Amino acid sequence: MSIGENYRRIASQVADCAQEQGRDAGQVCLIAVSKTVDAPVVAQAIAAGAHDFGENRPECLVQKAQAYPDQNWHFIGNIQSRRIGDIVEHACLIHSLFQESHARKISSHAASLGKVQDVLIEVNVSGEESKGGCTPAQAIDLVRCCLELPGVRPRGLMTMAPQGSREEALRTFQGLAQLRDQIRSAMEPDDAAVFNELSMGMSEDWPEAIACGATMVRIGRAIFSEEPLVLK
Ligand SMILES: *Cc1c(COP(=O)(O)O)cnc(C)c1O
Repeated sequence: MSIGENYRRIASQVADCAQEQGRDAGQVCLIAVSKTVDAPVVAQAIAAGAHDFGENRPECLVQKAQAYPDQNWHFIGNIQSRRIGDIVEHACLIHSLFQESHARKISSHAASLGKVQDVLIEVNVSGEESKGGCTPAQAIDLVRCCLELPGVRPRGLMTMAPQGSREEALRTFQGLAQLRDQIRSAMEPDDAAVFNELSMGMSEDWPEAIACGATMVRIGRAIFSEEPLVLK
């Protein structure tokens, strides 16, 4: 399978899955996570119709966003304070914010670029120690903090599910969807109207995530690996 074929296959499966849930195909954004491939490989996905890409290292985000400035570049990795300027300059959406100090820095960098940075709050729903993200309770406080900052616009929540168990993945995704609704119901109408994203689901668990209301799935290996991905 070529990367273009992989992309087209996943894109049509994602669209079908959204429609099975009674949603429009376009309501689930497929983010091609290109973190394991070099910039020239990205062109193969673009030729197959990809527009949204995810990167988890600032230097790779910068390099690929400069190579393909017409695509939407999502930052999905660990935020290091000293790289926030680079991230803000190139990311359409930061999926992995979970610290107030980073929110403040993002806001000031964004303000100096004359932009408002869209962000998602990363939540560790499952409580696994190895996972990044804040607790659900902290997420509410962090959203409140973001709403006070002129350069940051909170757009929703992101999570990663524990691997290997369908049931646990479903529980995690349902938990994130409930938390999004809970936070939303406490917001002013204008803020609530744009706080609607749920970034959840990767190569092994995206159908479960869409079933739970994902608006964005982040898929890497199933697109960029030449080896067929064997689902457990
Ligand atoms: C790598 C990565 C993905 C994609 O994972 P795959 O299993 O390769 O689909 C999604 N989200 C984040 C945060 C990642 O780091």
